Amino acid sequence: MPITPLHLGPGAVFKAIGGRRFSFVVFGLAQFAMDLEPIGRFLGGSNLLHGPVHSILGATIVGAIVAVLGKPLGGRLLRLWNWRLSPRQREWLHVETRLTWRETAAGAFVGTYSHVLLDSIMHPDVRLMYPFREVNDLVGIISVEKLDALCLALGVIGVLIILTVSFWRRKVHQG
Ligand SMILES: [Zn+2]
Repeated sequence: MPITPLHLGPGAVFKAIGGRRFSFVVFGLAQFAMDLEPIGRFLGGSNLLHGPVHSILGATIVGAIVAVLGKPLGGRLLRLWNWRLSPRQREWLHVETRLTWRETAAGAFVGTYSHVLLDSIMHPDVRLMYPFREVNDLVGIISVEKLDALCLALGVIGVLIILTVSFWRRKVHQG
């Protein structure tokens, strides 16, 4: 399956570690941007779902595009997120909507590079070193089931850390 929310699992851990230096929403946009390739290929009837975009070179180019577009687009999505919160949810879940270039770039490039890395373990047709090497060296180093479980576990750990930090900050603020 080309589209998988499991890519977001490691993103939660990156967010837990990076905090304000890492934009999770831009990381999410990077996942979407990368998988426009297999979606397009699937809709076009191609047998090969992962092409040049799913490589380090492709991830660098897509990362640069997401870094530029992600700042206004990510800010808009975050404002939408805040707008949908109830007053009670706002105490917990309200987010800063102004993204810095640094956190945008971090979300974009960590997003695209982690994406191709995970995809190259999952999918035989990914060529990480394209156009220099036409072989996938990483496919199957861990089984897809184990990789899925790892991504899910990372997601749970990341969310738990983020919630714990947010709870602790609130307590400190309330004195
Ligand atoms: Zn992909």
